[in-house]
Amino acid sequence: MTSDNNIMVILSSPSGVGKTTLTKKIQQKYQSFKISVSYTTRPPRSNEVNGVDYHFVKKAEFEELIKENKFYEYAKIFENYYGTLKTNVDETLKKNDIIFDIDWQGTKQLSKFENLKLIKIFLITENKEEIKKRLKNRNQNTDSELEKRYNSFDEEIKYWNDYDYILINKNLDVCFKQIENIILNNKKNFSTFFQKSA
Ligand code: 5GP
Repeated sequence: MTSDNNIMVILSSPSGVGKTTLTKKIQQKYQSFKISVSYTTRPPRSNEVNGVDYHFVKKAEFEELIKENKFYEYAKIFENYYGTLKTNVDETLKKNDIIFDIDWQGTKQLSKFENLKLIKIFLITENKEEIKKRLKNRNQNTDSELEKRYNSFDEEIKYWNDYDYILINKNLDVCFKQIENIILNNKKNFSTFFQKSA
């Protein structure tokens, strides 16, 4: 497979919709997919591994990388920086498809690179209360973090127009199947398109 056929799938959603689980499920099933490992200044959670879930860095290091123009995109979310390093993406794309778990700000920035073959998917729950339940069950945030994440729902859904697909994650298996169909269809379309225009 040449890099011309490789695609980039963005999954965005308000916090607590199940994006990380779905991202991991795709990578487990499709060996061709690598998850883009972001840089962040957020402290690791107890179950997170440096270099696997994120590259955890200090604020000064992150700001240096911004200054050196090393990111395809970055954003400040809940008072921490998150960003996608250009070299990581470029290297991965040579051999693999990539899946990004990034927010709407990053999606906007990546969309400006016209050479990138992006498929943009926005996930939501069937209602806002469901988010609160899932965030609580996840038990990864303090009460004030939880409140901030819950309150960001209204802000984030304002940007769903920027996406190619909106999916409701009511049932994880159904939602996964929908994502699979989107990926398989687009992979077909992208390779046809690039063969024709070559
Ligand atoms: P969390 O702290 O729960 O891991 O992530 C918080 C938010 O940051 C999520 O919405 C996630 O999609 C987003 N995020 C993670 N990595 C990146 C990144 O590299 N760039 C951008 N723009 N957002 C990211």
